[in-house]
Amino acid sequence: TREIHLANRPDGMPSVDNFTLVNKSLAPLADGQVLIKNLWMSVDPYMRGRMVDRKSYIAPFALNQVLEGGAIGEVIASKNNEFPVGTKVSSMLGWREHAVTDTDGLTALPQTELDSSHFLGVLGMPGMTAWTGLTRIANLKAGETLFVSAASGAVGSVACQLGKLMGARVVASVGSDEKAQLLQSYGVDSIINYKTCGDLTQALAKAAPEGVDVYFENVGGEHLAAALSNMKDHGRIAVCGMISLYNESTPTAGPDNLSLIVMRKLKLEGFIVFEHWDHYPEFAAKMSQWLAEGKVKAEQTIYQGIEQAPDAFIGLFEGKNRGKMLVKLA
Ligand code: NDP
Repeated sequence: TREIHLANRPDGMPSVDNFTLVNKSLAPLADGQVLIKNLWMSVDPYMRGRMVDRKSYIAPFALNQVLEGGAIGEVIASKNNEFPVGTKVSSMLGWREHAVTDTDGLTALPQTELDSSHFLGVLGMPGMTAWTGLTRIANLKAGETLFVSAASGAVGSVACQLGKLMGARVVASVGSDEKAQLLQSYGVDSIINYKTCGDLTQALAKAAPEGVDVYFENVGGEHLAAALSNMKDHGRIAVCGMISLYNESTPTAGPDNLSLIVMRKLKLEGFIVFEHWDHYPEFAAKMSQWLAEGKVKAEQTIYQGIEQAPDAFIGLFEGKNRGKMLVKLA
């Protein structure tokens, strides 16, 4: 079997040289263990943070060890009655084709018509992040104006669609016209291509002349500055991520208009989705229904084979994905 190790820590933009593909033989199954064949693995922006050796909300990756991340697999040998052969499971045992493991970190997937890959996207962590940010952090209400950055990605594309379902006017920012078209098909009201729009603050003022009630922050930097300048009094910012900063070798100063937080009496709140996981069943029930009714669409970008996983990961920082970036392993 094959797995991917972190060979050295990226400085700036990650490259394929930071990773090695390693051949390995599988350990025999002990009592209580299962052998999983992974079908899908996730690559996510937060993994960039785990490649840095520093204290954070999650431990850094070790060098020359298999990486970790969300995966969907199937049990193909079992010495555990609760996980018989054929059980589809989600785990954090990504970046590898197979895993021999205890069952503590495994969740059996519910029976559904949907492809199991959606449990890494719209029905999994990214979808749950969009829902948490809008409902539990920003408390978005019908009639309000929502601005979403990185709006065609795994989290952003769900945030835009949920924003529409919740009755908001949705303004989105993306890095290509093709991505803008996808969001148009979701009924997003106004879409900015931040690479071609010129001054982003002015473009947002034009797209949201009434001002922004809620900003779903995925990008940071210039996007945060533009959002601050366009927030209404008492606006809320759900700070989900700041992907434009993840590859910076030295920290840069923040936006020069932070004083607007005071003047406009804004509320900014960061959140980490895993701390809200007790609400996952409620989210999953709602999202399953929206998907079944066609009210939410699940876009995916798929790379084939474990050897493509580093390229898929790096592609997140190059805007290569529409919707959830995934690697198909089997
Ligand atoms: P995406 O699927 O959105 O993939 C990343 C996208 O970000 C790219 O496709 C690209 O789209 C955009 N992007 C990349 N670099 C830049 C840049 N320098 N400036 C502007 N846009 C950029 O990833 P996710 O949906 O998984 O994650 C989105 C955000 O949510 C990230 O910040 C992530 O860290 C955060 N997150 C936070 C969680 C939490 O618990 N707080 C949980 C999950 C995600 P484009 O072509 O439009 O530029």
